[in-house]
Amino acid sequence: MSGRIVVIGGGAAGFFSAIRAKEVFPDHEVIILEKSQKTLSKVKVSGGGRCNVTNVVSDPKELSSFYPRGQNFLKKAFSQFTSSDTVRWFEERGIKLKVYPDNCIFPVANNSQVIIDCFRGECERLGVQIEMSTGVQKIIKNERFKLTTSNGELNADKLIVTIGGQPKKSSLQWLEEMGHTIIDPVPSLFTFNMPDEPITELMGNVIEKAKVKIKGEKLEGNGPLLITHWGMSGPAILQLSAWGARILHDKDYHFEVLVNWLDSTKESELREQLTFCQEDYNDKHIGNVHPFPITLRLWKHLLMRSGIKETTRWRELGKNQLNKLVNTLINDCYQVKGKTTFKEEFVTAGGVSLQDINVQTMESKKIPGMYFAGEVMDIDGITGGFNFQAAWTTAFIAGSNVGT
Ligand SMILES: Cc1cc2nc3c(=O)[nH]c(=O)nc-3n(C[C@H](O)[C@H](O)[C@H](O)COP(=O)(O)OP(=O)(O)OC[C@H]3O[C@@H](n4cnc5c(N)ncnc54)[C@H](O)[C@@H]3O)c2cc1C
Repeated sequence: MSGRIVVIGGGAAGFFSAIRAKEVFPDHEVIILEKSQKTLSKVKVSGGGRCNVTNVVSDPKELSSFYPRGQNFLKKAFSQFTSSDTVRWFEERGIKLKVYPDNCIFPVANNSQVIIDCFRGECERLGVQIEMSTGVQKIIKNERFKLTTSNGELNADKLIVTIGGQPKKSSLQWLEEMGHTIIDPVPSLFTFNMPDEPITELMGNVIEKAKVKIKGEKLEGNGPLLITHWGMSGPAILQLSAWGARILHDKDYHFEVLVNWLDSTKESELREQLTFCQEDYNDKHIGNVHPFPITLRLWKHLLMRSGIKETTRWRELGKNQLNKLVNTLINDCYQVKGKTTFKEEFVTAGGVSLQDINVQTMESKKIPGMYFAGEVMDIDGITGGFNFQAAWTTAFIAGSNVGT
């Protein structure tokens, strides 16, 4: 053996980097240390138990645009290992993947266990060791790294830190003490609570294409919007929560959200459309007929919000009523008071500053021989397989360079 590589954390990035390291540096001993009694627990529950492994977007520039934090860093990293490389990696190991219409990629088996079995099988084949219930508590760097763990002491020549997103800054204190800058962690990917808004009575309603904004900010989210019994959810809201993670944290999750129920429809287009409606639907009751891609139930609710009776005939709509309707359809305002986790899926914005990491190798600029991969870094993406892709890419690069 020419040296010992220790990977701290047995999650997605930990396994991917350990496998890569052992493949590229077969003479090194590679050990994964996992603090809990289970490895890959997030992979297991990911994507509702199906594991959204990556996304079909593979051009480094385009792919990096799905990351509220880490965009420039990842653009360079993806030019080394992108989503099409991920697909090839799994397919070469016998995992069949399927692209869905929304560009998300899942295993054909529709079960995250196939990914876990693949990683465990690769570790066994290559001889990567796995130590459970071994949480790293402290590291001292002299000639070698000396690790104090919950399971005793251990020396290492090289380290890959893959401990995942840490909700509390204090959990990263040992990395800070080694000279790294830690960006305050805050949650990302959450849904909005609207306890005082009657719109929640329409729970279950899905609007296929909506546009949402935070009042007073430039941020926006696009895509399907879901009305829930607690407020609003769905990809458009999750996107907004990711882009606004830090701003919304600073607002203590109390803010106003503006909804365009008609996607990106502009006021002038809508006014024209409503004029046609008045001519075409003429004597018909406004509550019974409308041309928009929203349910009749939501339409009736929006009429109520605009102060228009359902029995009003289209031709009877006055100027004020039209103005109110236009505003409700494309600029509807709701009070958000708090957040809720989406199906337990969340990521942490913040972590080890990217300024401290060499993107070509993932090596720390502060501590030579120490590498980083995955969510422990100040990187996070929106939903769609992007968070795993960042983990695979950074782990691949760290594993490719750790033994040099
Ligand atoms: C419910 C849920 C569903 C998700 N679904 C998807 C999805 O479908 N697609 C997608 O792209 N992303 C998804 N994500 C996000 C994705 O799971 C994470 O971004 C990804 O797991 C990050 O990988 P990681 O290896 O950096 O961290 P983790 O997977 O969190 O692994 C870190 C590991 O390190 C261990 N550890 C921590 N501290 C120490 C220590 N001091 N010593 C030793 N070990 C330690 C932890 O116990 C853990 O096992 C989901 C997240 C959640 C919570």
